[in-house]
Amino acid sequence: TQKISAAIVGYGNLGKSVEKLIAKQPDMELYGIFSRRDSLETDAAVYPVAEAAEHKDKVDLLFLCLGSATDIPEQAASFAENFTTVDTYDNHHLIPAHREKMDAAAKAGGTVAMISTGWDPGMFSINRTIGEALFPNAQQNTFWGPGLSQGHSDAVRRVEGVKAGVQYTLPKEEALQAAKEGRGDEITGANAHRRRVVAVADEADQERIRQEIVSMPDYFEPYETTVEFVSQEVFDREHQGMPHGGHVITSGDLGGTHSSVEFTLELERNPDFTAASQLAYGRAAVRMAREGRTGAVTVLEVAPYLLSTASLDELVARDI
Ligand code: NDP
Repeated sequence: TQKISAAIVGYGNLGKSVEKLIAKQPDMELYGIFSRRDSLETDAAVYPVAEAAEHKDKVDLLFLCLGSATDIPEQAASFAENFTTVDTYDNHHLIPAHREKMDAAAKAGGTVAMISTGWDPGMFSINRTIGEALFPNAQQNTFWGPGLSQGHSDAVRRVEGVKAGVQYTLPKEEALQAAKEGRGDEITGANAHRRRVVAVADEADQERIRQEIVSMPDYFEPYETTVEFVSQEVFDREHQGMPHGGHVITSGDLGGTHSSVEFTLELERNPDFTAASQLAYGRAAVRMAREGRTGAVTVLEVAPYLLSTASLDELVARDI
């Protein structure tokens, strides 16, 4: 069968990871990249995003790799009117509204809009739903990290005198254990995670900076926070990555016995894994569109075999 002709809109961290991974898919080829910028550092064809609709007959699948803060709410629906799309929209409490908007646009266009793929939302969402379905009284906790938090790193960098800085969120071992044992109701965000700040600053400023960080309301004040100062050289060598991950832990009583289910992710580079999920769900979106489905689809509605390049018969023989 013919390869899926895929295009990317938005060439940030995620767009670059999707580009890299499309090259590794046996069933996809990259048509080009739509960007607001005139030129990008890539060998792929680059087109102005304003002219995207003119390419709709040559593109089977459009990867929406735009920012969730404003780009997706403002632009995603207009793409769904013309293309089968897959996004990683991660503003959890606004996902129901996003779904409604994408559903209307995709139904009007006769396309599929696969929404909120990635890992959280995405792989974690599926595992929350499956975990909860298994227990009459499920106890469920989600933990994030060890991982780099963009928002908290930005807050650190805003403190006067900080020349470079990052913040890692780490789940506490005792909280993970409590979740597995069914004591998850004792856990709150603040007592389940600790925060590790690594920063570069002149020695004379360090104590004041440490105080300002640990007492920052909401961001750091309710958490166990450590602040380490390193040289610019160490920072440049050891703190340029984008690691992330986490756990979804569900446990409960099954009529007098206790069981727990855990799903863990350890990601060396967050956008690479987010892209991997987006790619698999993009493949499913194209397959569902070819079967005549239209409208918004969430990860909860996608049968697992649709994600795979292997046939259902192969999967039944190999994986069941
Ligand atoms: P970026 O900030 O790197 O990119 C967002 C957009 O900004 C791009 O599409 C690009 O658009 C523009 N841009 C990027 N770099 C530059 C630059 N140097 N100069 C000017 N514009 C630039 O975001 P990410 O790719 O890291 O993340 C995209 C979204 O993915 C996030 O908003 C997040 O919500 C989501 N995400 C979801 C996850 C999940 O598990 N569901 C996990 C991780 C992220 P253009 O090319 O048009 O200029």
